[in-house]
Amino acid sequence: MILDSSSSQMRIGVVGAGTMGSGIAHVFARSGFSVALCDSAEGALDRAMDSIAENLGREVNRGVITEEYRAQSLARIHTGSYLESLAGSGIIIEAIHERFEAKHALLKALDDMLPSEVILASNTSSISLTKLAAVTSRPDRVIGMHFFNPVPVMVLVEVVRGMQTSDKTTQAVLALVQKIKKTPIEVNDAAGFVSNRILLPFLNEAMFALMEGVATAENIDTVFKLGMAHPMGPLALADFIGLDVCLDILRVLVEETGDPKYRPCPLLVRMVSAGWLGRKTGKGFFTYPENSK
Ligand code: NAD
Repeated sequence: MILDSSSSQMRIGVVGAGTMGSGIAHVFARSGFSVALCDSAEGALDRAMDSIAENLGREVNRGVITEEYRAQSLARIHTGSYLESLAGSGIIIEAIHERFEAKHALLKALDDMLPSEVILASNTSSISLTKLAAVTSRPDRVIGMHFFNPVPVMVLVEVVRGMQTSDKTTQAVLALVQKIKKTPIEVNDAAGFVSNRILLPFLNEAMFALMEGVATAENIDTVFKLGMAHPMGPLALADFIGLDVCLDILRVLVEETGDPKYRPCPLLVRMVSAGWLGRKTGKGFFTYPENSK
């Protein structure tokens, strides 16, 4: 077996059990950590546990873990609908919607509730860590842990230092990322960090090309798959990330930088208004009949 449970010591709290939060809970539990997974929406925790069980099952099929280890990993995840269920965690990783007001309110509530030594980490894709940290009384212990989708597969974590994040917090988080067998890359706080500052304008431009009739969605994606050896074209990748998530990030980039080059493509705005959010709703730039509601 590749993974063992000897690394478990700290309890990990995860808030938001959607695409990213469930993946984050999965990787920590699989690495031997006890995880408190919290989501306020009805049904979200059941859906997350089903998807974690299924994804761990894939690892059993590939021979990465045994069936027994899968069951032990699932048993390490404790779910709760209220923030109180996070008590006893050494670090909280929030993965709720990409809205500053929502994250602001959550971090404030966590700051009021949890002992001052607890690290508050955010999986935000684009929001300033310095701004998020400023709503707490522990800005030195607020940091970005930007995981990539799908979390159990992607090895990178951007570790984002806010202006006031301490060296001690950064070192603790870099070490934690290594314990779950991922590669941390330290970056400074700037809108979109490294990844989304570069990726989102690329995805947005592919949407403008589609809207202006330069080529079909299939052909735009094929240019990047065959011409640039990308494993996935930009429109399929946007569908995979979630078109609502892409729009939220572009809006943060415009707001944080004031630079109109990040202006969301009107086609993206209309698709999100129509509820076409990509893979998760069964329809985006492409269709995914298996996910249709
Ligand atoms: P999602 O919509 O799949 O999940 C968000 C979850 O948070 C939902 O289940 C919702 O019920 C829950 N939630 C919202 N407010 C809450 C609250 N106050 N308390 C408890 N639960 C709450 O979103 P996602 O795609 O998992 O994205 C989450 C975060 O991760 C965002 O900040 C996003 O930018 C970031 N991110 C997303 C991706 C991606 O590819 N989707 C990649 C990297 C980072």
